[in-house]
Formats: sequence, C-alpha cells, structure tokens
Amino acid sequence: MPLKIVDIGGNLCPMFCCDKCGEPIKGPDSGLMGWKHEEPAILLYFHKIRCDPGHEVIPFRHDLDVFMVWLQWKYGPQTKGWKDADRRADWLERM
Ligand SMILES: [Zn+2]
Repeated sequence: MPLKIVDIGGNLCPMFCCDKCGEPIKGPDSGLMGWKHEEPAILLYFHKIRCDPGHEVIPFRHDLDVFMVWLQWKYGPQTKGWKDADRRADWLERM
C-alpha cells in the first residue's frame, strides 16, 4: 500500500511510501511512479535510483510530481473539496 499516514514531528501526514523499502518518499523529485503493463495494471511507487525496479516498469514510469499533476487534472482544481484541501496542504507545508 503506497499511500500511508506518516507521523512527522507529531503531525500525521499522507505520504507515498516506496513499494520496495517501505520508507516515505519525502519529495516529488526523489520518487518515481510506474506501472506494470498487465491486466489490470499494477502501480508502483519507489525511490529514484536506490529502489528502482528497472525493467519491470520501463517505459511506464514518471516522476512523482508528474503523477500528482495528472491526478490534479483528472479530479479538477475547481471543486470546493480541492480548494479546501489546497488550504490544508498549505498549512502542512508551513509546519
Ligand atoms: Zn525505497
């Protein structure tokens, strides 16, 4: 399960965790997501370089921040829920 609630300094935050080592992926530029082209496709999240599954997900791999933009595009930044979440994320960023 790549999405977990992680305690960071006493605050609980949702974070992607690496499917290989289980550790949180702390920044969008330190993680990749990919999928195995099977039916149904299997999503994988992993640390760049140190936990890279290599040929298992090539060429279906992208930086984690690209994946987040895809999700944002899919679910729409215009909704009330999205705007509320954006404010909460801004609050978490300042902690
Ligand atoms: Zn890892």
